[in-house]
Amino acid sequence: MPSLFDLEHKRLRKEIQERKAKLVLIQLPEGLKQYGPMLATTVAKAGAIPILSADSCYGACDLATAEAKRLGADLLVHYGHTEMSTHPSISVLHIEAKAKGSIKNVTKKALPHLETWREIGLVTTIQHVHMLDEARDVLLNVGKTVKIGDAGQLDYAGQVTGCNYSNAKVVSMEVEAFLFIGGGKFHALGVALATTKPTVVSDPYEKRAFIIEDEAAAMLKRRWARIHETKQAKKIGILIGLKTGQKRLDQALKMKKLSENAGKQVTLFALKEITPEALMQFPAVEAFINTACPRLSLDDAKNFRRPLLTPNEMLVVLGELKWGELCAKGWFES
Ligand code: SF4
Repeated sequence: MPSLFDLEHKRLRKEIQERKAKLVLIQLPEGLKQYGPMLATTVAKAGAIPILSADSCYGACDLATAEAKRLGADLLVHYGHTEMSTHPSISVLHIEAKAKGSIKNVTKKALPHLETWREIGLVTTIQHVHMLDEARDVLLNVGKTVKIGDAGQLDYAGQVTGCNYSNAKVVSMEVEAFLFIGGGKFHALGVALATTKPTVVSDPYEKRAFIIEDEAAAMLKRRWARIHETKQAKKIGILIGLKTGQKRLDQALKMKKLSENAGKQVTLFALKEITPEALMQFPAVEAFINTACPRLSLDDAKNFRRPLLTPNEMLVVLGELKWGELCAKGWFES
């Protein structure tokens, strides 16, 4: 099956041979899992035994280091994300899986949606970061000015991740609107919420462009309703993520203290997968604070019966932060 992404088979073989790896655990995010068997063949050709991780994987925060150690693997190959933190206990190879092809045509499709604005901020995920110049040229050719931010927190200028929009925020005051290149709505909504600027999406997978203004406004309304609901709640649950890059115990303890000072009764919960089913086991808890993955609070919130606030939203509940300051501070950043 031909891949839409550069899976770097040659480099994979070379790294395995150079590291003399004998047992390799391969971890792929959901959109790339279909290429797993093909990658397993490459690993086998390089002289190692491949094992595919079939568990869910949503980000670089979710490295299967513990699983690799449990299996006795001497190399973990993680596809689709840049390195978030180092793991001295196990050898990890990150392969970014950059998209192939061109984004020129799908960028052109965004032009009618960007007509009103001249100064445009350009952002994308790791899969298309190497193509930003192509998108910039399309915009420059029709007389736009283009800003690609680099706040120095991520590997590439213009890159955003599910919990880091610093490259959008750093140019936000200099632009009138953003163009996000990438699939789905989650990252684009993150840009819109982090910057409060109109955000247009060019989706190279669906080959279409659209503005997400209405979704951003609807999400703000829903978030405000959840904050208001939590103000009435007496019993609060604070969730501590157990995935490698999602554990923020200090933040959970800080939230516990602040909530208790405000008269709330608090229980701490630790879990790897935060699902509606897991939280339904605790019906007495009226609202949850999610210190793990912001995507759950912002993108999946409708699936949860109880409010699932980000820590900064809880600060609004507690009167430590104003609603109007939330976007500037960020919905998740501590
Ligand atoms: S948004 Fe969630 S899944 Fe994505 S990197 Fe952040 S914590 Fe991980």
